[in-house]
Order: sequence, then C-alpha cells, then structure tokens
Amino acid sequence: MLIGILLSQNTNDKNAIRAYDNLRRAVKDISIDNILKAPLNTIMEAIKIAGMYRRRAETIKEIAQYIKKNLNGNLEQVLNLPLEEARRELLKIPGVGTKTADVILLMYANKPTFPIDTHIKRISKRLGLVCEKADYEEIRRKLMEIFNPEDYLEAHLRLIMLGRMYCKARKPECRSCPLGDICKYRRQVQQYSKYS
Ligand code: SF4
Repeated sequence: MLIGILLSQNTNDKNAIRAYDNLRRAVKDISIDNILKAPLNTIMEAIKIAGMYRRRAETIKEIAQYIKKNLNGNLEQVLNLPLEEARRELLKIPGVGTKTADVILLMYANKPTFPIDTHIKRISKRLGLVCEKADYEEIRRKLMEIFNPEDYLEAHLRLIMLGRMYCKARKPECRSCPLGDICKYRRQVQQYSKYS
C-alpha cells in the first residue's frame, strides 16, 4: 500500500496502477526482500509510466532499506501503536509525509485520522471551515472535530469526490454543488456579482 500511494502521487490513477502492476511483475510480488534484491534499473523501468521514475525508484529502495533495518522488515508493529505514536514512526520512513501516513493509518490500520489531499484542502478553505493560511495539521484537526471518527473514511472519500465533481480548482460548479447553501466562497461570489 505504501508503494501504491507513492506511485499515485503527481500522476493519474491509470498510470499509477499500471506502474504498480509493472513493478509487481518485475520484482515477482512486492515485498521488502524482493525490492531490496531488485536492481534499481529494474524498478525504474517498471515504474517509468508514473513519471519521476528515478527519484521514485530510489525512494522505493530507501523505504525497503529503512523498514528492513529499523523495523525488522515489518510495518505491522508500527501500525499497532496508538495513533500519534504510529504517525510519528511512519513519518520517519523516507518518502512518507503526513498525507501518506494518514492514508495508511486510516485505510490500512483503521485508525481515526483524516488525510488531507489537495481537494479537501481547497474545499475546507472555500467552505470557510478554516482560514486561507491554514496548514495541513489545522485542516486535519478541524475535520476530525467536525466528523465522528467512524465517519472519517467515508467523509474523506466523499470530499475528494466533491472536489472532482463540483469544487474544481479552476471553475467550481457552485450552482449545482450540494454544499452551496453553507459555502463561504459561494456567498462571497454572489455578493460580488450583486454589487458589480
Ligand atoms: S459551493 Fe462552490 S466553492 Fe463551495 S464547496 Fe461547492 S463547488 Fe466548492
């Protein structure tokens, strides 16, 4: 899952899936030992389609080395820790940032955390849930306050869907958006068009 998330960054889903499948075939199942055994070139070739393949291949190797050396080749012990402790440990792994750590913890370890992707960040600001300058942690805390922990996964997925369907970066479709009535951005746009 960690490798899958890494491959999905800054590329579309189709290319990320193809890169993942290519890698699985090239190293004969994605495991720490197989990644460590595989030549860097083999990994680079396999994931080329996802872009930034040299840097990504190096990161994949570094991840495997780190987990082998520091975690006895097994992430499970980290995932069994309490949330914030597990998060701190995941963030020590090369290439793992806050979003990746939260996705793993929510989706794989069933921990009550809220990953913030670019859609959720944009929507939270436009709705007025957080201020324009809010950073990752502030948005995460706010959404964790608003939703019940058992709803975090569904809320996370639905907000991403809302971002793709309505709250697009360039041209949000506010008229048909189901959150239009409670949205600060839409109110501001309506006020602006009334007085201009
Ligand atoms: S009303 Fe517009 S800006 Fe507000 S959440 Fe919906 S699409 Fe985004």
